Amino acid sequence: MRIAMIGTGYVGLVSGVCFSDFGHEVVCVDNNPEKIAMLERGEVPIYEPGLEALMAKNVAAGRLSFTGDLAAAVKGAQAVFIAVGTPTRRGDGHADLTYVFAAAEEIARAIEGYTVVVTKSTVPVGTNRQVRQVIRKAAPDADFDVASNPEFLREGAAIDDFMRPDRVVVGVQSARAGEVMNEIYRPLYLREFPILTTDLESAEMIKYAANAFLATKITFINEIAALCERVGADVKKVAAGMGLDGRIGNKFLHAGPGFGGSCFPKDTRALARIGQDHALPMQITETVITVNEEVKRRMIDKVMDLCDGSVNGKTIAVLGVTFKPDTDDMRDAPSLTLIPALVGAGAKVRVTDPQGRHEGEALLPGVHWMEDAYKAVQNADAVVLLTEWNEFRALDLKRMAKRMAKPRMADLRNIYAPKDAKRAGFEAYVGVGRAGFA
Ligand code: NAD
Repeated sequence: MRIAMIGTGYVGLVSGVCFSDFGHEVVCVDNNPEKIAMLERGEVPIYEPGLEALMAKNVAAGRLSFTGDLAAAVKGAQAVFIAVGTPTRRGDGHADLTYVFAAAEEIARAIEGYTVVVTKSTVPVGTNRQVRQVIRKAAPDADFDVASNPEFLREGAAIDDFMRPDRVVVGVQSARAGEVMNEIYRPLYLREFPILTTDLESAEMIKYAANAFLATKITFINEIAALCERVGADVKKVAAGMGLDGRIGNKFLHAGPGFGGSCFPKDTRALARIGQDHALPMQITETVITVNEEVKRRMIDKVMDLCDGSVNGKTIAVLGVTFKPDTDDMRDAPSLTLIPALVGAGAKVRVTDPQGRHEGEALLPGVHWMEDAYKAVQNADAVVLLTEWNEFRALDLKRMAKRMAKPRMADLRNIYAPKDAKRAGFEAYVGVGRAGFA
């Protein structure tokens, strides 16, 4: 099977590399020449564990290549995947489909023979039909079908998620397109990972419904965490007690600084917008968006309170800026709310992150980048643990406390036990949804 993958971002590159590892012949396309030049040199433009080695293996096997020439990649491909970005459109919360339609038009002009054009990007219900119209208009005689194949991988664990998915969702309109999709995913089917075939609209909806549900679960526990603080309960224990119920499950029940990242914020906004457009407001999702903003703001108050009500002139060390560990992705990260607020309130902010500096430098003006956690906390008045990278999970708290001017910690991921922080010499500790000390 010959596949063209349009877009070599977090989803396109991982999908392209994994499809080639299945044995398909894959050409990855991007209109960013710098990305293609890097990929051709064997360098991965993003940070994703394991990707570079898997990419090198498949390039060496002659199954994987990269180009800026979309037409050349599409010619002769049986399936063309669209994996371009669908960010929030400025102003109204809608998913911006400009890149999807632009790609579809280019694809239309290059199609040769029967081709399935598959949308992997997260797109609102109805988009695949629009993609079909765009192609039909640009190439009235083209022999093609469209298919929806939303992606569920998580950054930081993307390869494993792609190779061992909970499920693959495929929305098709014709048996012929269904056969091509089955052929592509046959290696997973043989290993008994469920493949759910639906109509186009249901496939599109599944992605938004799943992401909004997960965002709701996180936000629910974050709201419960705030109440735990008021009533003297410990959200870690509450989540453990809830999660043991098989109907609830223990995943996505970790209280923290609010959800961020490249998907949940934009997909909840888009779902809310789809609801409004159909005169059926998605009230739960709309509330989740509002509550999540409050959760993020509450983190600012926590740091302020920890610093006796003001951070003006104080040195604050922030550990972690990416929206989660094992990625360099900064899109809608909670750090982009907290850190500018601290800088704005007069704090000297030092940050450290194993992979976030490259993206973060432009997004976080006025901060000082440090090599590691110990350097970051030197003479600091407080340390804020914001992203739970492994590097920050087993810190020598004694060594940290000794270096600080004021050993105070805001542990926004509840990694450390307050009693351990106290024993190590911290004077004050605040977590999320449980008692600290001051
Ligand atoms: P990204 O911004 O990292 O990558 C998109 C890539 O497409 C960029 O490299 C861009 O240069 C390229 N591109 C744009 N227009 C193009 C064109 N006409 N021709 C060739 N290349 C073009 O985006 P991403 O994070 O990979 O997300 C892609 C889609 O997948 C989005 O719809 C997103 O919602 C969805 N998704 C993302 C994730 C995730 O974890 N990042 C998970 C599931 C689904």
